[in-house]
Amino acid sequence: MKIAVVGIGVAGAYLMDRLSQDHDNSVMGFERMHESQHDAVCAWATSKNVMSDLAKNCGLNFEEYIMHSGKHMKVDLKDIRTADKGENYIDIELNGMVIYDKLKLIRDMIKGTTIEFGRVPRKDSLEADFDIIIDSTGFHRNYLPKPKEEFWIPCIQYKVKYELNKTPFDDLYLRAFPSMAGYFWYFPLGNGYAHIGAGDFERKQNNKFVEDFLKRYKCQIIKKVGRPVRISPPKNCEPFTDRNKVVGVGESIGTVYPLLGEGIIPSTWCANMLVQNLHDRENYRREVLKKFEIYSTVFNFIRSKIYHKFNFLKDSYKLLKIYNHMKKEEDRYGMKVRMTDMIKISKI
Ligand SMILES: Cc1cc2nc3c(=O)[nH]c(=O)nc-3n(C[C@H](O)[C@H](O)[C@H](O)COP(=O)(O)OP(=O)(O)OC[C@H]3O[C@@H](n4cnc5c(N)ncnc54)[C@H](O)[C@@H]3O)c2cc1C
Repeated sequence: MKIAVVGIGVAGAYLMDRLSQDHDNSVMGFERMHESQHDAVCAWATSKNVMSDLAKNCGLNFEEYIMHSGKHMKVDLKDIRTADKGENYIDIELNGMVIYDKLKLIRDMIKGTTIEFGRVPRKDSLEADFDIIIDSTGFHRNYLPKPKEEFWIPCIQYKVKYELNKTPFDDLYLRAFPSMAGYFWYFPLGNGYAHIGAGDFERKQNNKFVEDFLKRYKCQIIKKVGRPVRISPPKNCEPFTDRNKVVGVGESIGTVYPLLGEGIIPSTWCANMLVQNLHDRENYRREVLKKFEIYSTVFNFIRSKIYHKFNFLKDSYKLLKIYNHMKKEEDRYGMKVRMTDMIKISKI
């Protein structure tokens, strides 16, 4: 079986490792960035409780990639449009949420596999040369038909360095934007380094908030990146296949938890489902839709908040459903989930 894996992010790297282990396969990877510029544009936060097993499937020890183990995450709920100096925040206890070296894990997963960097292959040449083409291009989704309904949040992010003892926070920090249109994040990377960034549907608030933060807390800017994150769930991202030759995986088919914009675990899970169902696309489709069914409820909730259509009394059952899901899977999210926090967040 000749397989092309196009796009070497979390999903593509996992597939390169797992599919290359099967000697009946001849697997070739393609990544548009040159090897020296290959990056993992992301804030690098995840739950080690899940990632440890996924890394183990590739013979890797996830503990070796952890840069910061979160204990608490402060979520500031103060309205950024007012000069209000009062306090309004929640403090979330973290149990397994970490910031890890995502790029190093990707590089270690692809060690010993064959990848052409700096190349965006044409669809027709892939179709001529390979039996299966996997679209793991994330947001880009270059090799699949456009879905009917797209929804994505534009993001910017800086990697910065503070003088030691002058970091703004010593643990994870979020600042929620009005109507849940996005949030600002500060995630420590250890040794004074941090990822700071923001995603904002409205595009108005994020740039200004990040720029002001950079001025307020002096730091050295190492890198600036921008990329949208797709939050429309798998149900809205069909088709997952094209003419039975191309199959999508990861963010290209919407595996991002919309409440958090969190795609590392769901995209790696999705890659794992594809490994198990490589020769049964219909079962793959069914499993993906089932596994990520709740993402549609979460997405509808976020969208109704953003468009000011959320009615607390009428729609509170949606909130309850999301709470029940996250409460049941506290380990997977790496945090303590409380109804009171959910209600406070839903009111911004
Ligand atoms: C700013 C930001 C911060 C985020 N922070 C977090 C976080 O802290 N935690 C979390 O869980 N999720 C986070 N996410 C979401 C998460 O990064 C993604 O959902 C996840 O990485 C998706 O994995 P993937 O492998 O499907 O795609 P990606 O990781 O996006 O990988 C796609 C790869 O394909 C390559 N590519 C694209 N087009 C082509 C092409 N035509 N040919 C060849 N190569 C191509 C890209 O260069 C890239 O390497 C964040 C997203 C953004 C934008």
